[in-house]
Amino acid sequence: MGVVKADGYGHGMIPAARAMLAGGATWLGTAFIEEALELRGAGIQAPTVAWIIPPGAPLSAAIAADIDLGVSALWLLDEIATAAREAGRRARVHLKADTGLTRGGVTAADWPDVVTAAARAEAAGLLQVTGVWSHFACADEPGHPSIASQINVFHEALEVAEKGGLRPEVRHLANSPATLTLPETHFDMVRTGIASYGINPIPELTFPELRPAMTLHTKIALVKRVPEGSGISYGHRYTTTRPSTLALIPLGYGDGIPRAATNLGPVLAAGRRRTVAGTVCMDQFVLDLGDDDAEAGDDAILFGPGDNGEPTAEDWAAALGTIPYEIVTRISPRVPRVYV
Ligand code: PLP
Repeated sequence: MGVVKADGYGHGMIPAARAMLAGGATWLGTAFIEEALELRGAGIQAPTVAWIIPPGAPLSAAIAADIDLGVSALWLLDEIATAAREAGRRARVHLKADTGLTRGGVTAADWPDVVTAAARAEAAGLLQVTGVWSHFACADEPGHPSIASQINVFHEALEVAEKGGLRPEVRHLANSPATLTLPETHFDMVRTGIASYGINPIPELTFPELRPAMTLHTKIALVKRVPEGSGISYGHRYTTTRPSTLALIPLGYGDGIPRAATNLGPVLAAGRRRTVAGTVCMDQFVLDLGDDDAEAGDDAILFGPGDNGEPTAEDWAAALGTIPYEIVTRISPRVPRVYV
């Protein structure tokens, strides 16, 4: 399964979905039904699971569009069965076991009741349980004790489901880190998000097969020379320590560059890696090039695959104390996406 929620982790959901299907994915995953409906609207008919379904979600539209629904509660199973009865069409559901992430999913205590209710609705022709699944808490920390525990609890949940008469087409547990490091968790399908975009989910390990798909590229908008002691940008959080050439970069927090990158974010410009000088504004920030030359229109690269000296999204994440998922996902729609 290619996971394309959150606008394809910022890469553009529709192009990402098409690329993943062309690359061999046979399922797609989204968080919300609305995202899955957008895929259908673009003519993408691959089996698609949406897994965060709050009260009031468009269940009828999802059933009509053959979108598989992740189910983490009995009330939702009931609502889906009702919507299926009204639609005169079987809903496709993936029952989610909470094996230890303690976020979505049905707890072990409630699992037998949900299985029984699902089997009953299946027998009544209202549902088809296409999937049984769960999600890891710490797969990005190899050796974390919760991993083995979650695998065990998942096996137990599968056994209860089978004893309850369910025969899911796909049992799925692995996210990107588990896909890369834990073959015993692959079952019938893996759900890869970040690794599909070429980003390494486990900073301590290297995976030569991963190559980041997204490059955030811009052009220097303005260059000027300023004296030593110049306070730069809002709040003067950076002051030049010598006469300096400054380059204005036309990207800011309105484009998804975290304001927290103030004095921290790495950028390749004028042949070297620089660090954001002063406050990141809504639409712009400044680099201090020192004595190096640059002209308006010269390239600047915030992150990319890293092949040509540019930082990676992983570098941004490390500099800002976050994860690369957040760096790529927050790049806003104002930034044009160009697919090559
Ligand atoms: N499965 C579920 C339920 C998720 O919420 C996510 C993403 O957060 C994924 C799979 C994909 O995770 P990753 O991007 O680590 O592969």
